[in-house]
Amino acid sequence: MRIEEDIKLDFKDVLIRPKRSTLGSRKEVDISRSYEFKWSKLNYHGVPIIAANMDGVGTMAMARVFAKMGHGMTAALHKHYPLEKLIDFYQNEGNANVWYSIGVTEKDEEKLDDFLRHNIQKTGKGIDKLCIDVANGYSEPFAHFVRKIRAKQPDITIMAGNVVTGEMTEELILAGADVVKVGIGPGSVCTTRKMTGVGYPQLSAIIECADAAHGLGGLVCADGGCTVPGDLAKAFGAGADFVMLGGMLAGHDQCEGEIVEENGKKFVQFYGMSSDTAMNKHSGGVAEYRASEGKTVKVAYRGDVADTVTSILGGIRSACTYVGARRLKELSKRTTFIRVSQQLNTVFGNE
Ligand code: 5GP
Repeated sequence: MRIEEDIKLDFKDVLIRPKRSTLGSRKEVDISRSYEFKWSKLNYHGVPIIAANMDGVGTMAMARVFAKMGHGMTAALHKHYPLEKLIDFYQNEGNANVWYSIGVTEKDEEKLDDFLRHNIQKTGKGIDKLCIDVANGYSEPFAHFVRKIRAKQPDITIMAGNVVTGEMTEELILAGADVVKVGIGPGSVCTTRKMTGVGYPQLSAIIECADAAHGLGGLVCADGGCTVPGDLAKAFGAGADFVMLGGMLAGHDQCEGEIVEENGKKFVQFYGMSSDTAMNKHSGGVAEYRASEGKTVKVAYRGDVADTVTSILGGIRSACTYVGARRLKELSKRTTFIRVSQQLNTVFGNE
């Protein structure tokens, strides 16, 4: 047994120090980014925020509203859309605002192969963005799987995860990932830290993984733990190239969930993809050998997600003006984090 004495930080443990700035208004700030992906060589331009591939968040309706808003945000479609629906969607709406998501089962791979065959027949095109996603990106078969898909699909941008340390980020990039998804345990409906004792404070995970990825020409997506727009500013400040959101986008019209009314208030159910709810819905129950690592919550119904997105983007723009970053790209260079005491945490209401 070993104890690592270095302090590791979460979003709530820091604030961003303001810096002298020549910016007059947040209107002058450009919060889009442009990337050329390491392996696929494809280009991306847009606001690098991704809706998580969860029921109620990574929906087709979410992708549609992002397309309409025109900021270049994307949704990672959840894994449970039937093949025909996916084919229709890609045929009618195209590639631009979606990631196709898969796990690592044979069924997932077969579905992807089928989908690509049909899609290419119908549209003449494949897909350009793929998210390969497992709760624990540390297992050896996972890196093998990423390597196998990269060999089969040299031209698709691959995002793979989740991991929280530099050495595994490097391993996944070398296996063929263009973007490594970072986060074990920070999710709003995740119970991994409680069930297993495993995890890593998210801000430190982003800093360490971004450093490792950038050294190899790869990128990272900070996945999980953002509860307010300031958390996204901190994630970008820490070096995240993309930020993935679950809970902050839940509870809207675009979530394709049932809106229930209780005592005059409207709610939408939101659950982790490893929760009992998700496993009962998609896999016919929780397998005997595993425990649920996600929970089910009721979130307040919040109307059109476009309003929430506008407020999130406003927060990030404002953060950039506070540190004098004219473009989102400059935010991490201009970020100095200051550690805050537990007492101040409580005052923020971030606990
Ligand atoms: P949030 O933005 O809600 O804090 O976090 C979203 C992320 O939580 C997702 O992108 C995914 O990585 C993670 N997540 C979703 N469902 C579950 C779950 O059931 N268990 C765990 N451990 N993580 C989950």
